[in-house]
Amino acid sequence: MNKLKKTIEEKGVFINEDVLKVDSFLNHQIDVDLVEEMGQQFYEHFKDAGITKVVTIESSGIAPAYACARRLGTNMIFIKKSMPSTMIDPLYTSVYSFTKQKEYPICIEKGMLAPDDRVLFIDDFLANGEAFKGAEQLIGQTGAQIAGIGICIEKRFQKGHDYIIKAGYDLYSLASIASTDHKKIKWA
Ligand code: 5GP
Repeated sequence: MNKLKKTIEEKGVFINEDVLKVDSFLNHQIDVDLVEEMGQQFYEHFKDAGITKVVTIESSGIAPAYACARRLGTNMIFIKKSMPSTMIDPLYTSVYSFTKQKEYPICIEKGMLAPDDRVLFIDDFLANGEAFKGAEQLIGQTGAQIAGIGICIEKRFQKGHDYIIKAGYDLYSLASIASTDHKKIKWA
């Protein structure tokens, strides 16, 4: 069992059958050693994929995306959840938030990615895949190609996993939860 799975078992708290709270090591406080190890695992999986940029959505994907990007020797871009006045040529779409149960806008400066970029998308959680679909839409508008998807914690019993696999992407999840029965995790 990898360190992330162990940490989830020791410190993760199920708010209900679907929502796992990981504030003590990933979503609020960041366990820096754990995040470095996660970055290393993503790096080992994607090192030969010709990645030129790592992309995430703010904010909890930033730390693992950064840890991976520095190993790949690429820059990292975080898609923003609000549009700053400094953006000159924004691309935007909206995403339905699984945890907040409402739509929110996401945006990226168009020039951040070019058609010859090969993107590794990294995020903290994969649930129904809405955040990924939003990122997919924005990245698609730049002409860049998604060459891989790295997820820290995947809940395989929700819709995102199947969407990504059916679309033919290389999906690599560090901790994949097959099911939760009375808040007890069964690993995929
Ligand atoms: P999706 O868009 O795939 O439905 O959900 C992914 C996003 O929702 C993640 O970026 C994460 O912010 C949030 N999320 C989804 N499931 C969980 C969960 O069980 N716990 C926490 N803390 N966040 C989640």
